[in-house]
Amino acid sequence: MAWKTLDDIDLNQKIVLTRVDINVPMEAGVVSDYTRIERIKPTIDDILAKGGKPVLLAHFGRPKGQPNPDMSLKLVQPALEKILGQSITFIERPSREEIEGLPQNTIILVENTRFTNMETENNPQMAQFLASLGDVYCNDAFSAAHRAHASTEGVAHLLPACAGRLMQQELSALESALSTPKRPVVAVVGGAKVSTKLDLLENLVRKVDHLVIGGGMANTFLAAQGVSVGKSLCEHDLSETAKKILKVADEAGCEIVLPADVVVAKEFAANAQNKAVAAHQCPDDAMILDAGPEAIKKIISVFEKSETLIWNGPLGAFEIEPFDKATNAAAAKAAELSKAGNLISVAGGGDTVAALNKSGSAQDFTYISTAGGAFLEWMEGKTLPGVAALSA
Ligand code: AMP
Repeated sequence: MAWKTLDDIDLNQKIVLTRVDINVPMEAGVVSDYTRIERIKPTIDDILAKGGKPVLLAHFGRPKGQPNPDMSLKLVQPALEKILGQSITFIERPSREEIEGLPQNTIILVENTRFTNMETENNPQMAQFLASLGDVYCNDAFSAAHRAHASTEGVAHLLPACAGRLMQQELSALESALSTPKRPVVAVVGGAKVSTKLDLLENLVRKVDHLVIGGGMANTFLAAQGVSVGKSLCEHDLSETAKKILKVADEAGCEIVLPADVVVAKEFAANAQNKAVAAHQCPDDAMILDAGPEAIKKIISVFEKSETLIWNGPLGAFEIEPFDKATNAAAAKAAELSKAGNLISVAGGGDTVAALNKSGSAQDFTYISTAGGAFLEWMEGKTLPGVAALSA
């Protein structure tokens, strides 16, 4: 897929509508994590350096189409000013005239786009209005690109449009992991349930060479093969679905890696008494909470023969020790191989970032996407409207 970047459009003296994700966490009225703001800084710096006037469009919280002072982007203004290193002009009700009247090196922040339902409905009038405010549209909010909203999709069709630096980075990482990867490709899919990741599994078995299934969802696959999983988290009603996925994988030449051994405990609690047993030996009164040492060895050997890794979901109940062992060991190996230049590793979605951060290996992955839903939809092979609109 081809899309323009900030290098492909003349921004000099232009008003650049810039869709960003600054949906930052707040504690006691103060931004408690600056990551999202830090990640859009290169885009805004670049627009300014190219002589453009950035007008930031963003949502904040879930105001459900109504103005709500607790979700005003004015609350984020001080944090933006701190990270971007200059004062910002906040405008509640923007007009072209007011924006034009501000000096060229001003950064403008517009009030929460979701204070009207017209945003989430992708209302054409709202898209027209937004387009009337600027000369160029830049989308730097990959994490909102799975939504077809007025500020993420509608407006993109009405102005010369391009991807911001963060969007560019996300798209290149995802393309190199799944669209045009160096083979062999291994995918790790873990987490609680098969039911929430059906589309993901169905897409991946057709695209990757090895699929490591871990976490609670591995139990569903083991049970489908007739293995007794005791009190483990397991979706017995998805047996047929699991069997179908195994069949498609077989036809597509995708090796499915299920744990040969597992760590079992009688309770879901930190430091619960536990032991490693063969996958088919889970006692009736115990539950599988992690992959075992043999399974870890196998996963590592698959990583070693792969060129690309794409990862979503933990391999066990990583929040409670020692059931984070398999996730940590696999993450450490992926990080080591990536650092040595032997693996392209891309991870993201939901709990994955938390699990990899907790493992202490995240910094050596090639790319960790913080875009939860959008990352998953990309892995599921779905078209992201915000991205598609850029390549139109
Ligand atoms: P997800 O949001 O689907 O990626 O699932 C992540 C959750 O799955 C985490 O909270 C893990 O604790 C949980 N999980 C992973 N493996 C297991 C398991 N074997 N039994 C119970 N929960 C698990």
